[in-house]
Amino acid sequence: MFAHTALRIRTAAWLLSTAILLLLAGCDASPEAAQPSTLERIQKEGALRVITRNSPTTYFQDRAGETGFEFELARRFADSLGVELKVETADSLDELFTRLNQPDGPVLAAAGLVATEGRKSQANFSRAYLEVTPQIIYRNGQRRPTRPEDLIGRRILVLKGSSHAEQLAQLKKTLPELQFEESADVEVVDLLRMVDESQIDLTLVDSNELAMNQVYFPNVRVAFDLGEARSLGWAVAAGKDDSLLIEANKFLEQVQKNGSLQRLKDRYYGHVDVLGYVGAYTFAKHLQQRLPRYEKDFRKAAEKYKVDWRLLAAIGYQESLWTPDATSKTGVRGLMMLTQNTAQAMGVVNRLDPKQSIAGGAKYFALVHSGLSEKMSEPDRTWFALAAYNVGIAHLADARKLAQAEGLDPNKWLDVQKMLPRLAQKQWYSKTRYGYARGGETVHFVRNIRRYYDILNWVTQPQMEGTRVAESGLHVPGVNRTIPRGEPSQL
Ligand code: GLU
Repeated sequence: MFAHTALRIRTAAWLLSTAILLLLAGCDASPEAAQPSTLERIQKEGALRVITRNSPTTYFQDRAGETGFEFELARRFADSLGVELKVETADSLDELFTRLNQPDGPVLAAAGLVATEGRKSQANFSRAYLEVTPQIIYRNGQRRPTRPEDLIGRRILVLKGSSHAEQLAQLKKTLPELQFEESADVEVVDLLRMVDESQIDLTLVDSNELAMNQVYFPNVRVAFDLGEARSLGWAVAAGKDDSLLIEANKFLEQVQKNGSLQRLKDRYYGHVDVLGYVGAYTFAKHLQQRLPRYEKDFRKAAEKYKVDWRLLAAIGYQESLWTPDATSKTGVRGLMMLTQNTAQAMGVVNRLDPKQSIAGGAKYFALVHSGLSEKMSEPDRTWFALAAYNVGIAHLADARKLAQAEGLDPNKWLDVQKMLPRLAQKQWYSKTRYGYARGGETVHFVRNIRRYYDILNWVTQPQMEGTRVAESGLHVPGVNRTIPRGEPSQL
């Protein structure tokens, strides 16, 4: 009996230790199972390390800090994971993918990247968050290519390692005479500037890039769309660990559903067509010739009334193209186009004196801004203040009520701007408290100012501190990089 029992115990012990050994050996054979997933690492470190490009469509710094479409979207993602966002920039697309694949590198690339075939070995892409079309860009006045064959014999430059380099290489298989160059030392803004200044004949960029940058380069035009629309996605290193990608996809789906992705697109891309070619050219000219005369006055008034001077300058441009003796038939006058009543209320004696006009406009804007509902948060609050500055607080209240009645959010600018044009239609305004108003114009007013404001933000980045806009030759933004490339940003 005893012997039997002892044997049984020994056998059981042997079996157990063998099982443990096998288990351990099993672990050794697949070390991945023992290692934390990317998502677990992010959560443990409390930080999401994202790599991007330093460009107007992705990530840059203005006086208020870091900004850009990709940055804002990534920040929301980091927030949803409950971790801090750490942004790094790469000097080139090749470097971006190399660093993404380094074991101790950033875990996510958010850089306006097209999910191409060629990138499959280097990256796994998330679901799409923006549809873009590759566009051949030429200079106005030059021969316009209209089909791929027309590209032969022209000097074409694209970003090294870009989806466009891949696309042109593909095209070259059917059009062997096609020549193109790639450069790792430039950004899309540089490519567009080079076309603008006739340093190259053509380039190929994504439609979002052109839309964003058109205003700086009045001479660049779309020749034709090269191929179908494609998707921009976030990228993680190629490999089996899809823990972060799953979260990214969930997040992107969620922001698409709840409208915040659309709001971000609206903020960064929604007003890009506003100026058009002529407007873009005129603005660039006035930025150099007129703004310097009033910049000091804008800054002084901004400081006094705690408003961003660039916003005031943007209002001034929309109102009068920075013309101090502007006069309209309806009796509004001066650089900030104040009505007689507003001028009086703001203590402006001479509306045609630009200093007084700017100070009066600033005071009035600050007053309107501070009188808005506490429920509005920035940046929407600023857009509402602009609308109220233009159409009056009473009509704005009407539009907000219309929004509420439609089940829209009266504290979201995107929702209320849809309602403003209704104030000019009898079927709607007859039911409002304050009646008819040219609400459609207000939408344009706000949209234009936001566009000017964006441009002023971009051209007055921190490294320009102390430099006057005019002296800096800032209508060419490509040369004004502020973030040391490749270095983690200070968050
Ligand atoms: N979207 C491009 C890419 O995926 C980069 C930016 C551009 O050239 O428009 O390579």
